[in-house]
Amino acid sequence: MILMRLFAIAVLSVGVVACGQVGPPRPDNMPPADNTPPPADDDTPPADDEPDPMPPVDEDPEPPAPGFELPGGWQGAPGALLPGSSTVKGSTGVTDPSVIAPEMIFPLAEGPAFANSQIFGQGGGGYASGEWPGPGGSENDPRNFDYPWADNFCEVRLDAKHATDLCPGGKAHKGQDLRPKTCENAVHWLVAPETGWISHVGSISVNIMGAESGLKYKFLHVQMPVPDWVKTGAPVTQGQPFAQVSDLLSASSRATTVHTHFEIHGAADVDGALHNGALPPYTSLVESYLDLVDANPDMAEPVAQPSQDKCLTPQ
Ligand SMILES: [Zn+2]
Repeated sequence: MILMRLFAIAVLSVGVVACGQVGPPRPDNMPPADNTPPPADDDTPPADDEPDPMPPVDEDPEPPAPGFELPGGWQGAPGALLPGSSTVKGSTGVTDPSVIAPEMIFPLAEGPAFANSQIFGQGGGGYASGEWPGPGGSENDPRNFDYPWADNFCEVRLDAKHATDLCPGGKAHKGQDLRPKTCENAVHWLVAPETGWISHVGSISVNIMGAESGLKYKFLHVQMPVPDWVKTGAPVTQGQPFAQVSDLLSASSRATTVHTHFEIHGAADVDGALHNGALPPYTSLVESYLDLVDANPDMAEPVAQPSQDKCLTPQ
């Protein structure tokens, strides 16, 4: 099953067609296939002097805009950012379908969950005072807690701490935003993606080191205080709940949306070269989410959102 999915992602991410909010990867950002030279352009006209009057009919066409399939339909492909959201407008993110963290499980205890953008999702104000405009509206709009997923690793950021050599423009979001099942604050549990230990507890963050992979998993906007046992050096077991999703932007501000900003750090080959630091987590989240909903099909379906008042009131 996993091999089939990888094949689907690898093949389909190359052939993405624009659909809905997700744009196609541009050919100039496609990863190099290998070291063999590309085939020479064949400008020779077909020998047949009488071309078919009708193009061939595809009896079994591929679905449009495939990235991967969930019960909720086809989702955004790796690197297919929301239109207008990349640091270099019009560019794609990391389209390499490699799964950086095949050992990890999905970092939310239950589904459904939604990989998407906060500042370019409903209620989002965009970036840089409208230079990268967002759609506005309500952050608790049900459309934010629904499919399709969208990669936002290479979403625009311009400050020095967001430097990355993996995204066009050299600076980007460097993580993936995940919304939980509902817009409720301090309800949804995060779980350890891999067995290891707590490597850092910050004012609104927790880091977990994976013992087997050597990868570091970073979580921002976690509800504080975290449980007493969550301290630097504490062992943690894969799947163990350790914190809740919140809307904390800082220790004293609830100015962000209810979501988790998830990062994977380490070293890995991406787009044919070794990269260190923040790695693209989208495909690892896809694989682990498919495992979660395969085992729990009821977790794939979006649910009705609670009243807006409940979600807008910090708890
Ligand atoms: Zn984020």
